[in-house]
Amino acid sequence: MSLYIKNARFIDWQSFEITQTHICVEPGKTGGICLTDDLPEPVAEGSKVVDAQGRWVTKSFACGHHHIYSTLARGMPAPAKAPVNFVEILKYIWWNLDKNLDFEMIKASALASAVYCAKNGVTFVIDHHASPFAVENSLFAIKEAFDSIGLSHLLCYEISDRDGKAVREAGLAETKNYLTAGNPGHVGLHASFTVGDELLKKAVQLARDCDTGLHMHVAEDKADQADCEKKYGKRVVQRLADAGALELKGSILGHCLHLDEDEINRIKNSSAWVVQNVESNLNNNVGLTDYSAYGDRIMLGTDGMHSDMLRSAKASFLLGQQTEQISFPGIYDRFRKVHTYIEENGFQGDTDNNLVILDYNPPTDVTRDNFLGHFVYGLDSAHVSTVISGGQVIVEERKLVSANETDIMEFAREMGNRLWRKLV
Ligand SMILES: [Zn+2]
Repeated sequence: MSLYIKNARFIDWQSFEITQTHICVEPGKTGGICLTDDLPEPVAEGSKVVDAQGRWVTKSFACGHHHIYSTLARGMPAPAKAPVNFVEILKYIWWNLDKNLDFEMIKASALASAVYCAKNGVTFVIDHHASPFAVENSLFAIKEAFDSIGLSHLLCYEISDRDGKAVREAGLAETKNYLTAGNPGHVGLHASFTVGDELLKKAVQLARDCDTGLHMHVAEDKADQADCEKKYGKRVVQRLADAGALELKGSILGHCLHLDEDEINRIKNSSAWVVQNVESNLNNNVGLTDYSAYGDRIMLGTDGMHSDMLRSAKASFLLGQQTEQISFPGIYDRFRKVHTYIEENGFQGDTDNNLVILDYNPPTDVTRDNFLGHFVYGLDSAHVSTVISGGQVIVEERKLVSANETDIMEFAREMGNRLWRKLV
């Protein structure tokens, strides 16, 4: 089915050129768009026409690092012991939560996250999942949930040695099954301090075999570096380089907060990408860094804090004043860099037929020259009214139309209550 958007104020996401136009939107994972002054009259049978009513239309958004597994955390009971550092935050909060996830809870987490992504205009999600005692088929369940909402995705399971050999091997098996079934994604690892040498070696080999990269956390806290130096006599990036991880295709390294100059240069001169998540870093009190030294393969994520990339961009801009005096073009480039990552690494689902209609009626003019001022200080997810993913309308006038949101949230709350009763 073809889709037409009439009466659009189209803003090209790269040139900021503004065009009053109608838009023909092709369906499918690789579909494009065309701008036209003339809509076919009548449109072909089965086609859909969306009236933008003069509102802004531009490319939708993508998230470089998400954790759907944390969706049922908001409002959960306080941990048995108040954590005093990052490792304790993992131990008493996140590892306690993810160990208690079962298959139905994973489905609920993925569905609810996908709804939030869709309603925030995020049509492509790169996720990093953990559920150590419900590993088998977890990636397939998340895929099914994302597909049912209409999101494109790159999934991985964060494999680790933290829960013993059987769980580690289950993570490797799930990853292999998922990727060799033809699904796009990564080989996920938690972080150096929970990944032994045998696992690192196996993960790199699996990524090579599946022609993809690793997706892991790197030096999110100083403890990751301290552990690596103590156990292996080297720093984290050296360890990854020695294992061949930096030569893989499109590896994603989360955070990279505590790297020295040599490590930064190694990443800059590799094929790896860095994803920054400043709100999560503030939440965990693990520090901030100047990412400008890392080259231009930096993108933004949410780290599971939420599913709103406009919010991530704003937070990164504001914090970026302190760390690197980031400019309007600098933050917009970082916000949009995920599209380059997806395209350069040959993944599908992020072509021009992914669009948002923004109900943005500002008190000042929007022009090609000042769009970035509106992007930083004006636009937010409350303006996202209609979302098109792969040429299909998934949110229309702020209402999810690809699935039943009421049912999904009811299911999520039911699963959330069940999860919280299991937390001790
Ligand atoms: Zn993360």
